[in-house]
Amino acid sequence: MFEYIAISTLNDFIFCPYSIYLHNVYMGGEEELYHATPQTRGKAAHTAIDEKKYSTRKDDLVGLSIYSDELGIAGKIDIYKAKEKLLVERKYKLKAIYQGQIYQLWAEYFCMTEMGFDIEQLAFYAISTNQTFPVEMPGDVGKQELKAFIEKFKVYRPEDAIETNENKCRNCIYNSLCDKTEYHV
Ligand code: SF4
Repeated sequence: MFEYIAISTLNDFIFCPYSIYLHNVYMGGEEELYHATPQTRGKAAHTAIDEKKYSTRKDDLVGLSIYSDELGIAGKIDIYKAKEKLLVERKYKLKAIYQGQIYQLWAEYFCMTEMGFDIEQLAFYAISTNQTFPVEMPGDVGKQELKAFIEKFKVYRPEDAIETNENKCRNCIYNSLCDKTEYHV
């Protein structure tokens, strides 16, 4: 059976491919045991979207399930503002915008356009500071870059060697479950 890659895992894959494996192994258990506070707040921000509590505007779409057969990915958007042709991804806090987060938004964009939606603007929105951060449209070059990244994701195997990094590993929410790192907290 054809399996779609969850868009929400693209950012985690850049952080560390092995974290995806650990998440899949343990996600059936007590998720709150390894979700640190910032992640829990991030999840709470998304819960409002998932339960469709956020927007009352008729032309906004919230929590829409999306997919792309071309890229083999699927997920959910936060908000699509049809009038502005704007796709927005909300985060609780945004000190910096990482490449993985941009890939996530691009992935949502390609799913939406494949599904027939018209999008001319992309942006992140930081809830804690009430700020909007516009993101460049990917274009063809961005699409090829995202495709190459998704291909890496598809061929990754947990037994592959990975480079560990002390700063990363000590801040990783899977640290206590990880058998690849020597940097335990
Ligand atoms: S502890 Fe390090 S090696 Fe293990 S999943 Fe986290 S980042 Fe990856």
